[in-house]
Amino acid sequence: ERVDNPFEGADGYVNPDWSAKARSEPGGEAVADQSTAVWLDRIAAIESGSAGDNHMGLRDHLDEAVKQDEANGSRPLTIQIVIYNLPNRDCSALASNGELRISENGLQRYKTEYIDVIADILADEKYRNLRIVTIIEIDSLPNLITNLNVPDCQEAERTGAYVEGVRYAIDKFYEIPNVYNYVDAAHHGWLGWDSNFRPAAELFASTVRGTKAGLQSIHGFITNTANYSALREPYFDINTTVNGTSVRQSKWIDWNFYVDELSYAQDMRRELISLGFPSDIGMLIDTSRNGWGGPDRPTGPSSATDVDKFVDESRIDRRLHAGNWCNQAGAGLGERPQANPEPGIDAYVWVKPPGESDGASEEIDNDEGKKFDRMCDPTYEGNERNGYNNSGALPDAPLSGHWFSAQFQELLRNAYPPV
Ligand code: BGC
Repeated sequence: ERVDNPFEGADGYVNPDWSAKARSEPGGEAVADQSTAVWLDRIAAIESGSAGDNHMGLRDHLDEAVKQDEANGSRPLTIQIVIYNLPNRDCSALASNGELRISENGLQRYKTEYIDVIADILADEKYRNLRIVTIIEIDSLPNLITNLNVPDCQEAERTGAYVEGVRYAIDKFYEIPNVYNYVDAAHHGWLGWDSNFRPAAELFASTVRGTKAGLQSIHGFITNTANYSALREPYFDINTTVNGTSVRQSKWIDWNFYVDELSYAQDMRRELISLGFPSDIGMLIDTSRNGWGGPDRPTGPSSATDVDKFVDESRIDRRLHAGNWCNQAGAGLGERPQANPEPGIDAYVWVKPPGESDGASEEIDNDEGKKFDRMCDPTYEGNERNGYNNSGALPDAPLSGHWFSAQFQELLRNAYPPV
Protein backbone atom coordinates (compact mmCIF):
# COMPACT_ATOMS: atom_id res chain seq x y z
CA GLU A 1 0.00 0.00 0.00
CA ARG A 2 1.54 3.26 -1.05
CA VAL A 3 0.89 6.29 1.13
CA ASP A 4 -0.52 9.49 -0.39
CA ASN A 5 2.60 11.53 0.22
CA PRO A 6 5.83 9.58 0.71
CA PHE A 7 7.53 12.62 2.23
CA GLU A 8 4.97 13.23 4.94
CA GLY A 9 6.06 12.19 8.40
CA ALA A 10 9.28 10.76 6.98
CA ASP A 11 12.95 11.55 7.37
CA GLY A 12 14.99 12.17 4.25
CA TYR A 13 18.00 10.06 3.35
CA VAL A 14 21.31 11.84 3.88
CA ASN A 15 23.71 10.84 1.09
CA PRO A 16 27.11 10.28 2.78
CA ASP A 17 28.98 11.03 -0.47
CA TRP A 18 27.39 14.47 -0.83
CA SER A 19 27.38 15.13 2.88
CA ALA A 20 31.15 14.61 3.10
CA LYS A 21 31.75 17.09 0.28
CA ALA A 22 29.47 19.69 1.86
CA ARG A 23 31.10 19.20 5.26
CA SER A 24 34.57 19.64 3.77
CA GLU A 25 33.69 23.22 2.79
CA PRO A 26 33.95 26.12 5.23
CA GLY A 27 30.43 26.70 6.56
CA GLY A 28 29.14 23.58 4.83
CA GLU A 29 28.42 21.90 8.15
CA ALA A 30 25.21 23.93 8.38
CA VAL A 31 23.58 22.06 5.51
CA ALA A 32 25.55 18.80 5.34
CA ASP A 33 22.73 16.85 6.96
CA GLN A 34 20.11 17.85 4.41
CA SER A 35 18.63 15.14 2.26
CA THR A 36 19.74 15.17 -1.37
CA ALA A 37 18.94 12.81 -4.21
CA VAL A 38 21.14 9.98 -5.45
CA TRP A 39 21.80 10.25 -9.19
CA LEU A 40 22.22 7.17 -11.35
CA ASP A 41 23.75 9.08 -14.23
CA ARG A 42 25.24 6.09 -16.11
CA ILE A 43 25.22 2.32 -15.98
CA ALA A 44 28.41 2.21 -13.91
CA ALA A 45 26.82 4.47 -11.27
CA ILE A 46 24.62 1.55 -10.20
CA GLU A 47 27.77 -0.22 -8.98
CA SER A 48 30.14 2.55 -8.11
CA GLY A 49 28.45 5.92 -7.84
CA SER A 50 27.65 8.90 -10.04
CA ALA A 51 30.07 11.41 -11.53
CA GLY A 52 32.69 13.23 -9.50
CA ASP A 53 33.65 12.14 -6.00
CA ASN A 54 30.59 9.94 -5.53
CA HIS A 55 31.62 6.39 -4.79
CA MET A 56 28.60 4.61 -3.37
CA GLY A 57 26.61 2.35 -5.64
CA LEU A 58 22.86 1.85 -5.44
CA ARG A 59 23.04 -1.05 -2.97
CA ASP A 60 25.47 0.90 -0.79
CA HIS A 61 22.95 3.72 -0.62
CA LEU A 62 20.00 1.47 0.11
CA ASP A 63 21.92 -0.42 2.81
CA GLU A 64 22.90 2.88 4.36
CA ALA A 65 19.29 4.08 4.09
CA VAL A 66 18.14 1.02 6.01
CA LYS A 67 20.66 1.92 8.73
CA GLN A 68 19.49 5.53 8.87
CA ASP A 69 15.91 4.30 8.99
CA GLU A 70 16.62 1.95 11.89
CA ALA A 71 18.54 4.64 13.78
CA ASN A 72 15.60 7.01 13.52
CA GLY A 73 13.08 4.94 15.44
CA SER A 74 9.60 4.63 14.04
CA ARG A 75 9.70 7.39 11.44
CA PRO A 76 9.87 6.04 7.89
CA LEU A 77 12.73 7.04 5.61
CA THR A 78 12.41 8.43 2.09
CA ILE A 79 15.26 8.06 -0.39
CA GLN A 80 15.23 9.76 -3.78
CA ILE A 81 16.83 8.10 -6.78
CA VAL A 82 17.28 10.00 -10.04
CA ILE A 83 16.83 7.89 -13.16
CA TYR A 84 18.87 9.69 -15.80
CA ASN A 85 20.33 7.72 -18.65
CA LEU A 86 18.01 7.72 -21.65
CA PRO A 87 19.70 7.29 -25.03
CA ASN A 88 20.37 10.73 -26.58
CA ARG A 89 20.09 12.18 -23.09
CA ASP A 90 19.73 15.94 -22.69
CA CYS A 91 19.26 16.22 -26.46
CA SER A 92 19.12 20.01 -26.72
CA ALA A 93 22.24 20.64 -24.64
CA LEU A 94 25.69 19.12 -24.45
CA ALA A 95 26.93 19.31 -20.87
CA SER A 96 25.00 16.26 -19.67
CA ASN A 97 24.92 14.12 -22.79
CA GLY A 98 25.15 10.56 -21.60
CA GLU A 99 26.69 7.28 -22.65
CA LEU A 100 23.84 5.83 -24.74
CA ARG A 101 22.92 6.68 -28.33
CA ILE A 102 19.66 5.77 -30.02
CA SER A 103 21.52 4.85 -33.18
CA GLU A 104 23.73 2.44 -31.26
CA ASN A 105 21.06 0.24 -29.74
CA GLY A 106 20.82 2.63 -26.78
CA LEU A 107 17.17 2.02 -25.95
CA GLN A 108 17.70 -1.73 -25.64
CA ARG A 109 20.75 -1.19 -23.45
CA TYR A 110 18.82 1.33 -21.35
CA LYS A 111 16.21 -1.32 -20.64
CA THR A 112 18.39 -4.32 -19.97
CA GLU A 113 21.64 -2.89 -18.57
CA TYR A 114 20.15 0.02 -16.67
CA ILE A 115 16.44 -0.08 -15.78
CA ASP A 116 16.21 -3.86 -15.26
CA VAL A 117 19.29 -3.86 -13.05
CA ILE A 118 18.02 -0.95 -10.94
CA ALA A 119 14.55 -2.48 -10.63
CA ASP A 120 16.01 -5.81 -9.44
CA ILE A 121 17.91 -4.01 -6.70
CA LEU A 122 15.00 -1.83 -5.60
CA ALA A 123 12.76 -4.90 -5.42
CA ASP A 124 15.01 -6.60 -2.84
CA GLU A 125 12.96 -7.53 0.24
CA LYS A 126 15.64 -5.93 2.45
CA TYR A 127 14.53 -2.52 1.24
CA ARG A 128 10.79 -3.03 1.61
CA ASN A 129 10.43 -0.61 4.52
CA LEU A 130 12.03 2.29 2.69
CA ARG A 131 9.97 4.76 0.74
CA ILE A 132 11.82 4.93 -2.54
CA VAL A 133 11.08 7.97 -4.71
CA THR A 134 12.22 7.72 -8.32
CA ILE A 135 12.74 10.98 -10.21
CA ILE A 136 12.28 9.94 -13.80
CA GLU A 137 14.32 11.33 -16.68
CA ILE A 138 14.83 15.04 -16.33
CA ASP A 139 14.62 17.14 -19.49
CA SER A 140 13.44 14.26 -21.65
CA LEU A 141 9.74 14.67 -22.55
CA PRO A 142 9.92 18.51 -22.38
CA ASN A 143 12.57 18.42 -25.09
CA LEU A 144 10.03 16.75 -27.39
CA ILE A 145 7.79 19.79 -27.00
CA THR A 146 10.14 22.69 -27.62
CA ASN A 147 13.38 21.45 -29.14
CA LEU A 148 12.49 19.45 -32.21
CA ASN A 149 14.77 21.64 -34.30
CA VAL A 150 17.72 19.84 -32.67
CA PRO A 151 18.69 16.62 -34.56
CA ASP A 152 19.21 14.52 -31.40
CA CYS A 153 15.77 15.51 -30.12
CA GLN A 154 14.22 14.81 -33.52
CA GLU A 155 15.69 11.34 -33.39
CA ALA A 156 14.30 10.83 -29.88
CA GLU A 157 10.87 11.82 -31.15
CA ARG A 158 10.93 9.98 -34.49
CA THR A 159 12.05 6.69 -32.95
CA GLY A 160 9.82 7.04 -29.90
CA ALA A 161 12.85 6.27 -27.73
CA TYR A 162 12.16 8.81 -24.97
CA VAL A 163 8.50 7.88 -24.61
CA GLU A 164 9.23 4.14 -24.71
CA GLY A 165 12.14 4.46 -22.29
CA VAL A 166 10.12 6.49 -19.80
CA ARG A 167 7.21 4.05 -20.00
CA TYR A 168 9.53 1.11 -19.51
CA ALA A 169 11.05 2.69 -16.40
CA ILE A 170 7.65 3.57 -14.94
CA ASP A 171 6.32 0.05 -15.55
CA LYS A 172 9.29 -1.65 -13.94
CA PHE A 173 9.26 0.54 -10.86
CA TYR A 174 5.51 0.54 -10.41
CA GLU A 175 5.65 -3.22 -9.87
CA ILE A 176 7.60 -2.57 -6.67
CA PRO A 177 5.08 -1.60 -3.99
CA ASN A 178 7.30 0.81 -2.05
CA VAL A 179 8.49 2.80 -5.07
CA TYR A 180 6.90 6.16 -5.89
CA ASN A 181 7.35 7.43 -9.45
CA TYR A 182 7.67 11.15 -10.15
CA VAL A 183 8.15 12.32 -13.74
CA ASP A 184 9.97 15.47 -14.76
CA ALA A 185 7.82 18.44 -15.82
CA ALA A 186 10.53 21.03 -16.62
CA HIS A 187 10.00 24.51 -15.09
CA HIS A 188 8.01 27.67 -15.72
CA GLY A 189 10.76 29.31 -17.78
CA TRP A 190 10.57 26.39 -20.20
CA LEU A 191 6.92 25.34 -20.45
CA GLY A 192 5.00 28.32 -19.09
CA TRP A 193 3.61 29.61 -22.41
CA ASP A 194 0.25 28.51 -23.75
CA SER A 195 2.00 27.27 -26.88
CA ASN A 196 3.79 24.60 -24.85
CA PHE A 197 2.04 24.22 -21.46
CA ARG A 198 -0.98 22.24 -22.63
CA PRO A 199 0.92 20.26 -25.29
CA ALA A 200 3.43 19.23 -22.63
CA ALA A 201 0.70 18.14 -20.21
CA GLU A 202 -0.87 16.14 -23.04
CA LEU A 203 2.43 14.45 -23.81
CA PHE A 204 2.91 13.57 -20.13
CA ALA A 205 -0.61 12.13 -20.06
CA SER A 206 -0.33 10.11 -23.27
CA THR A 207 3.05 8.79 -22.19
CA VAL A 208 1.83 7.62 -18.79
CA ARG A 209 -1.48 6.37 -20.20
CA GLY A 210 0.58 3.97 -22.32
CA THR A 211 2.05 2.21 -19.28
CA LYS A 212 0.59 -1.08 -18.01
CA ALA A 213 -1.24 0.51 -15.09
CA GLY A 214 -2.03 3.69 -17.00
CA LEU A 215 -2.34 7.01 -15.20
CA GLN A 216 -2.20 5.25 -11.81
CA SER A 217 1.40 4.23 -12.26
CA ILE A 218 2.92 7.52 -11.26
CA HIS A 219 2.65 9.42 -8.01
CA GLY A 220 3.28 12.88 -9.38
CA PHE A 221 5.65 15.21 -11.17
CA ILE A 222 8.68 17.30 -10.33
CA THR A 223 9.51 20.81 -11.54
CA ASN A 224 12.66 22.90 -11.53
CA THR A 225 14.99 19.91 -11.28
CA ALA A 226 18.57 21.18 -11.26
CA ASN A 227 17.26 24.60 -12.26
CA TYR A 228 17.28 28.06 -10.73
CA SER A 229 13.71 29.35 -11.20
CA ALA A 230 12.54 31.23 -8.10
CA LEU A 231 9.91 29.49 -6.02
CA ARG A 232 7.99 32.73 -5.56
CA GLU A 233 8.40 36.23 -6.87
CA PRO A 234 7.24 38.12 -3.78
CA TYR A 235 6.94 41.59 -5.35
CA PHE A 236 4.71 40.95 -8.37
CA ASP A 237 2.60 38.23 -9.90
CA ILE A 238 1.29 37.48 -13.36
CA ASN A 239 -1.58 39.95 -12.96
CA THR A 240 0.57 42.90 -11.94
CA THR A 241 0.42 45.92 -14.23
CA VAL A 242 2.82 48.83 -14.34
CA ASN A 243 1.40 52.09 -15.55
CA GLY A 244 -1.32 50.10 -17.32
CA THR A 245 1.09 47.62 -18.91
CA SER A 246 1.05 43.94 -17.92
CA VAL A 247 4.30 42.52 -16.56
CA ARG A 248 3.79 39.79 -19.15
CA GLN A 249 4.99 42.31 -21.71
CA SER A 250 8.33 42.83 -20.00
CA LYS A 251 11.45 41.43 -21.61
CA TRP A 252 12.10 39.19 -18.62
CA ILE A 253 8.66 37.54 -18.57
CA ASP A 254 8.29 37.65 -22.35
CA TRP A 255 4.56 36.76 -22.46
CA ASN A 256 5.00 33.77 -20.16
CA PHE A 257 1.88 32.95 -18.08
CA TYR A 258 3.98 32.25 -14.98
CA VAL A 259 6.46 34.34 -13.06
CA ASP A 260 7.56 31.67 -10.61
CA GLU A 261 7.76 27.97 -9.90
CA LEU A 262 5.13 27.50 -7.23
CA SER A 263 2.35 28.93 -9.41
CA TYR A 264 3.59 26.87 -12.35
CA ALA A 265 3.75 23.60 -10.41
CA GLN A 266 0.28 24.09 -8.92
CA ASP A 267 -1.27 24.94 -12.29
CA MET A 268 0.53 22.12 -14.07
CA ARG A 269 -0.93 19.75 -11.50
CA ARG A 270 -4.44 21.07 -12.15
CA GLU A 271 -3.91 20.73 -15.88
CA LEU A 272 -2.73 17.13 -15.50
CA ILE A 273 -5.72 16.26 -13.34
CA SER A 274 -8.02 17.79 -15.97
CA LEU A 275 -6.43 15.40 -18.46
CA GLY A 276 -7.35 12.40 -16.35
CA PHE A 277 -4.59 11.96 -13.77
CA PRO A 278 -5.89 10.97 -10.34
CA SER A 279 -6.69 13.98 -8.17
CA ASP A 280 -4.21 12.83 -5.54
CA ILE A 281 -1.09 13.30 -7.66
CA GLY A 282 1.40 15.60 -5.98
CA MET A 283 4.17 17.84 -7.18
CA LEU A 284 7.77 18.15 -6.06
CA ILE A 285 9.83 21.28 -6.59
CA ASP A 286 13.61 21.19 -6.59
CA THR A 287 14.59 24.10 -4.36
CA SER A 288 18.24 23.23 -3.99
CA ARG A 289 19.54 26.31 -5.80
CA ASN A 290 16.67 28.74 -6.28
CA GLY A 291 17.06 30.80 -3.11
CA TRP A 292 18.33 34.08 -4.60
CA GLY A 293 19.28 35.68 -1.30
CA GLY A 294 22.36 37.73 -0.59
CA PRO A 295 23.02 41.45 -0.99
CA ASP A 296 21.47 41.75 -4.46
CA ARG A 297 18.06 40.48 -3.45
CA PRO A 298 15.41 43.20 -3.83
CA THR A 299 13.62 44.08 -0.59
CA GLY A 300 10.40 45.39 -2.12
CA PRO A 301 8.73 46.24 -5.40
CA SER A 302 10.44 48.83 -7.56
CA SER A 303 8.81 52.23 -7.96
CA ALA A 304 9.74 52.38 -11.64
CA THR A 305 6.93 53.11 -14.08
CA ASP A 306 8.62 51.44 -17.03
CA VAL A 307 7.59 47.79 -17.09
CA ASP A 308 11.04 46.41 -17.90
CA LYS A 309 12.68 48.51 -15.26
CA PHE A 310 9.99 47.54 -12.74
CA VAL A 311 10.40 43.82 -13.35
CA ASP A 312 14.18 43.94 -13.41
CA GLU A 313 14.35 45.86 -10.16
CA SER A 314 11.66 43.80 -8.42
CA ARG A 315 12.50 40.23 -9.36
CA ILE A 316 14.44 38.08 -6.94
CA ASP A 317 15.54 35.72 -9.74
CA ARG A 318 18.68 37.62 -10.76
CA ARG A 319 19.52 35.64 -13.89
CA LEU A 320 20.10 37.41 -17.17
CA HIS A 321 17.43 35.22 -18.79
CA ALA A 322 15.13 32.49 -17.47
CA GLY A 323 16.53 30.13 -20.11
CA ASN A 324 19.97 30.23 -18.47
CA TRP A 325 20.60 26.97 -16.66
CA CYS A 326 24.32 26.44 -16.15
CA ASN A 327 26.12 27.28 -12.86
CA GLN A 328 24.25 30.56 -12.47
CA ALA A 329 26.18 33.38 -10.84
CA GLY A 330 24.42 34.92 -7.85
CA ALA A 331 22.25 31.90 -6.99
CA GLY A 332 21.73 30.64 -3.45
CA LEU A 333 20.42 27.56 -1.70
CA GLY A 334 16.63 27.59 -1.64
CA GLU A 335 14.00 26.31 0.78
CA ARG A 336 15.27 23.40 2.84
CA PRO A 337 13.63 20.08 1.97
CA GLN A 338 10.20 19.79 3.59
CA ALA A 339 6.94 17.90 3.15
CA ASN A 340 3.55 19.46 2.30
CA PRO A 341 4.75 23.07 2.06
CA GLU A 342 1.81 24.27 -0.07
CA PRO A 343 -1.43 22.83 -1.48
CA GLY A 344 -0.73 20.27 -4.19
CA ILE A 345 2.98 20.18 -3.39
CA ASP A 346 4.16 16.90 -1.83
CA ALA A 347 7.55 18.37 -0.96
CA TYR A 348 10.33 20.80 -1.61
CA VAL A 349 13.30 18.61 -2.36
CA TRP A 350 17.00 18.97 -3.06
CA VAL A 351 17.38 16.84 -6.14
CA LYS A 352 20.39 18.58 -7.64
CA PRO A 353 23.07 18.17 -4.99
CA PRO A 354 24.20 21.76 -4.36
CA GLY A 355 27.88 22.11 -5.23
CA GLU A 356 27.79 19.66 -8.12
CA SER A 357 28.48 21.44 -11.39
CA ASP A 358 26.00 21.74 -14.26
CA GLY A 359 28.74 21.60 -16.85
CA ALA A 360 32.32 22.55 -17.59
CA SER A 361 33.07 26.15 -18.51
CA GLU A 362 35.57 24.97 -21.09
CA GLU A 363 36.34 21.79 -23.01
CA ILE A 364 37.48 18.98 -20.66
CA ASP A 365 38.28 15.48 -21.90
CA ASN A 366 36.22 12.80 -20.20
CA ASP A 367 34.82 9.30 -20.52
CA GLU A 368 31.34 10.23 -19.24
CA GLY A 369 29.85 11.19 -22.60
CA LYS A 370 29.82 14.84 -21.56
CA LYS A 371 30.49 17.55 -24.06
CA PHE A 372 31.29 21.21 -23.84
CA ASP A 373 28.16 23.36 -23.77
CA ARG A 374 28.76 27.04 -24.27
CA MET A 375 25.85 27.83 -21.96
CA CYS A 376 28.41 26.97 -19.24
CA ASP A 377 31.00 29.36 -20.68
CA PRO A 378 30.85 32.77 -18.97
CA THR A 379 31.97 34.50 -22.18
CA TYR A 380 29.18 33.01 -24.32
CA GLU A 381 26.73 35.44 -25.83
CA GLY A 382 23.84 33.05 -26.12
CA ASN A 383 21.49 31.49 -28.66
CA GLU A 384 17.79 31.61 -29.49
CA ARG A 385 16.91 29.54 -26.41
CA ASN A 386 18.18 32.23 -24.04
CA GLY A 387 17.31 35.22 -26.17
CA TYR A 388 20.96 35.79 -27.07
CA ASN A 389 21.85 36.80 -23.55
CA ASN A 390 25.12 36.14 -21.81
CA SER A 391 25.20 32.66 -20.23
CA GLY A 392 25.47 34.04 -16.69
CA ALA A 393 27.61 31.01 -15.78
CA LEU A 394 30.36 31.01 -13.16
CA PRO A 395 33.92 30.60 -14.49
CA ASP A 396 36.26 27.66 -13.87
CA ALA A 397 33.55 25.03 -13.57
CA PRO A 398 34.37 21.30 -13.72
CA LEU A 399 32.38 18.68 -15.67
CA SER A 400 28.72 18.28 -14.78
CA GLY A 401 28.26 16.28 -11.61
CA HIS A 402 31.78 17.07 -10.35
CA TRP A 403 32.34 19.10 -7.19
CA PHE A 404 32.47 22.85 -7.74
CA SER A 405 33.67 24.38 -4.53
CA ALA A 406 33.34 28.03 -5.59
CA GLN A 407 29.73 27.46 -6.56
CA PHE A 408 28.96 25.74 -3.27
CA GLN A 409 30.45 28.69 -1.40
CA GLU A 410 28.32 31.13 -3.33
CA LEU A 411 25.18 29.05 -2.83
CA LEU A 412 25.82 29.12 0.91
CA ARG A 413 26.39 32.88 0.95
CA ASN A 414 23.28 33.63 -1.08
CA ALA A 415 21.01 31.09 0.61
CA TYR A 416 17.40 32.12 1.10
CA PRO A 417 16.13 31.46 3.66
CA PRO A 418 19.66 32.16 4.96
CA VAL A 419 21.47 29.25 6.62
C1 BGC B 1 25.23 15.39 -14.46
C2 BGC B 1 25.31 14.10 -13.69
C3 BGC B 1 25.22 14.38 -12.20
C4 BGC B 1 24.02 15.23 -11.88
C5 BGC B 1 23.95 15.63 -10.42
C6 BGC B 1 24.01 16.20 -14.05
O1 BGC B 1 24.07 17.45 -14.66
O2 BGC B 1 25.20 15.13 -15.84
O3 BGC B 1 26.50 13.45 -13.99
O4 BGC B 1 25.17 13.17 -11.48
O5 BGC B 1 24.03 16.40 -12.65
O6 BGC B 1 24.98 16.50 -10.07
